[in-house]
Amino acid sequence: MKKKTQIVVVGGGAGGLPLVRRLGAYFGRELYDIILVDRSRSHIWKPLLHEVAAGSLDANMDEIGYGGHGVRWGYRFFYGSLESINRENQQIITAPFIDEDGREIVARHTIRYDYLVLAYGGVSNDFGIPGVRDHCLFLENRDQAEAFRQKLLNQCFRVSHLAGTDGDARVRICIIGGGATGVELAAELYNAAKGLRDYGLEVFDESRLEVTLLEAGPRILPALPEDLAQAAHEELEALGVRVQVGTMVTGIDGTGVAIKDGDRIEADLRVWAAGVKGATIAGSLDGLELTRSNQIQVRSTLQTTVDDRIFAIGDCCSCPQPDGPPVPPRAQSANQMAATVFENIRSLIAGMTPKPFVYRDKGSLVSLSRFSTVGSLMGNLVGGRMAIEGRLARLAYMSLYRLHLIAVHGWLKGLGLIAVGHINQVIRPKLKLH
Ligand SMILES: Cc1cc2nc3c(=O)[nH]c(=O)nc-3n(C[C@H](O)[C@H](O)[C@H](O)COP(=O)(O)OP(=O)(O)OC[C@H]3O[C@@H](n4cnc5c(N)ncnc54)[C@H](O)[C@@H]3O)c2cc1C
Repeated sequence: MKKKTQIVVVGGGAGGLPLVRRLGAYFGRELYDIILVDRSRSHIWKPLLHEVAAGSLDANMDEIGYGGHGVRWGYRFFYGSLESINRENQQIITAPFIDEDGREIVARHTIRYDYLVLAYGGVSNDFGIPGVRDHCLFLENRDQAEAFRQKLLNQCFRVSHLAGTDGDARVRICIIGGGATGVELAAELYNAAKGLRDYGLEVFDESRLEVTLLEAGPRILPALPEDLAQAAHEELEALGVRVQVGTMVTGIDGTGVAIKDGDRIEADLRVWAAGVKGATIAGSLDGLELTRSNQIQVRSTLQTTVDDRIFAIGDCCSCPQPDGPPVPPRAQSANQMAATVFENIRSLIAGMTPKPFVYRDKGSLVSLSRFSTVGSLMGNLVGGRMAIEGRLARLAYMSLYRLHLIAVHGWLKGLGLIAVGHINQVIRPKLKLH
């Protein structure tokens, strides 16, 4: 019996999930086997993680279980973590899964591929600064966002109980990194703090929150035009965030953050949101070329530089652009790359030449929770940027997630889920406190 053509995608995130959905729907199960490998059992869109962290979004409501999604769209889900690649035998090897009691749940596995797409994302870049890994919280995945929420709540309860005897008690949070993640988290924290009173923390309000946002560069939000970044800066300060630009962090410990000029910021919670690098894979990638930031170097077709059968997309890859820096690590890049890889795999199977990926910058949007949204739309589509703020920007920002829902569920279910989301906004609690 002829073996099926196996297309394996590692990572079901902003790039990988829309890709397997398209591959499954197009190729079907008869002659092809589309396999998604992910080390989580469900997907949550990463740009929502700051809302999960602040408790304003319940991840259980927005997660997508890979198993059921795969049955619906014609791909198989394999629960596993990529450990290494064997290019000669066209195999990936997944690590054994060990539970918290030390029992092996799933053994080490070998999966054959005809085409392999690596879409396992990125992690924060700590730039080797001492103490970051041990003393900072991160927002790289759902578990970390949930862990942050628990710690935040504990601090809020602590301060709430102290408030009667200690009028100065505060929850002190230092966020390092003035990009979209850090800025959005800072604003979301004030949104959550405003709501805590309604959920039983009577003496807690936003005046009990002390958030400092540190940025090494000369301004926050370098991806946005200067006037919009300035508007966001002012909005954050109006909320109560202490924004410090041009501030180089030299070390982190269990109680605070050390700054280059010898200064120090005491903080109960320290969040690292600076820079992105490719995630680390435990074993060997069998000679795939890596950049200094641990990303897989790809050609313009998104094929790796050393193997035509292996593609890489999203935050785990570095894709050159003809004039300028590599494609930025963003959800829209991952999604656009998924569309190109889908076409290119079809071309290779049909014996045609794959086409180069062209990144279309549709602009950047940054949400300051319900307080404001700023951004620029269109990017290079109109040969420049169109600055937007306020309701229009909010609408555009929300449409990003809606487009993602449609990309992974199709129009019918996607629109249904958008409608359910609206209803939930009205009937469900505004904050998740448990
Ligand atoms: C808080 C936050 C806010 C953001 N806001 C925005 C925004 O507003 N706009 C924007 O464009 N971008 C935003 N981003 C960036 C955006 O989320 C990423 O660029 C995008 O998710 C990258 O997509 P990806 O498919 O490469 O990786 P991811 O979406 O990170 O998915 C990677 C997947 O791979 C899986 N995986 C990881 N390692 C392994 C392994 N070894 N084996 C198997 N599976 C593995 C993971 O479980 C995950 O499912 C934000 C990021 C964060 C953290």
